[in-house]
Amino acid sequence: MTLNDFEKFFEEKILQRARSYSDAVLSLEEVRSGEWEAEVEGSENYIVTVWLDGVKIIDSECDCPYDFGQYCKHQGAVFYALRDRLNGKKPLKNEREEQNEKLRSVLVGLGKDELVTLLAKYAKKYEQIEEEIWSSIWMRSQKNMRTENR
Ligand SMILES: [Zn+2]
Repeated sequence: MTLNDFEKFFEEKILQRARSYSDAVLSLEEVRSGEWEAEVEGSENYIVTVWLDGVKIIDSECDCPYDFGQYCKHQGAVFYALRDRLNGKKPLKNEREEQNEKLRSVLVGLGKDELVTLLAKYAKKYEQIEEEIWSSIWMRSQKNMRTENR
């Protein structure tokens, strides 16, 4: 079984849950060469350990009480996360939030002119950002109108 074909070894029901769990993988790190440890959020948090050789899954375990089959949804979610990680894709939700916090702390230190220049530059480059800015300005003016009419 490898990270590219593990889906074949899962029950469809478990696989669906594993997919919807992709944002529940809180951390994922290689603790020793080829040994990965992940924390998965659920009714309780569980630790999944996966031993890899390249993309080959040598072994994996989860400390949840599920024992109806070989693989639980937590292991499935971690296999998906590992595949993304090894393909250089998609940081975890947690890591994205961390990056965003970091960016925010830098932005706080910039002057208003610099911020306006930055925003205008990216609005020009990415149409979606421009639309988002217009829509937040619009929502803000709606909100102000509502308070003024009170
Ligand atoms: Zn589990």
